[in-house]
Amino acid sequence: MGYARYEIIRANGDRIEAGYAVQAICEKDGCNEQIDRGLAHLCGKDPRGDDHGCGGYFCANHLYGDNQCESCAAKADEVNRWVHPDTGEEFDLRDRFLPAGARYDSRSPVWKHQGEWRGEVPVLAHVLPQGERAVDTETRLLSEGEWEDVGRIVYRQMTQAS
Ligand SMILES: [Zn+2]
Ligand SMILES: [Zn+2]
Repeated sequence: MGYARYEIIRANGDRIEAGYAVQAICEKDGCNEQIDRGLAHLCGKDPRGDDHGCGGYFCANHLYGDNQCESCAAKADEVNRWVHPDTGEEFDLRDRFLPAGARYDSRSPVWKHQGEWRGEVPVLAHVLPQGERAVDTETRLLSEGEWEDVGRIVYRQMTQAS
């Protein structure tokens, strides 16, 4: 199957041509950047729109994080934000975590939320950093003990290394 040109039906019922050979302009209001309708410019993963995005096409300046437009990225941030009820600490459930103070090693398991909840508290699974495959069936609660996201640990390790 080729991805150069194909027809899709959008969530609103419009029939459009998509694919990296199809010229378009960024769909952000007021932006006239020339783009194509390839997957690189797509908000989300499905041109018809899905849980990840709206299926709009945007220039590099108007796609954020996980290939999402501004409003979809904001929505995803909100959905993935969890506030610890006691400490008020905010977590992004897309992050990978380690117990506070731990060292990160790219070959060692990390803790990751995989959609499971216990009551109001996100459950963390013990997974390998590559592919997020579970290493065992152990789980932890994000409310138990102190956690740090791997991004922050890596940053600290990089800035402290000399
Ligand atoms: Zn979007
Ligand atoms: Zn744009």
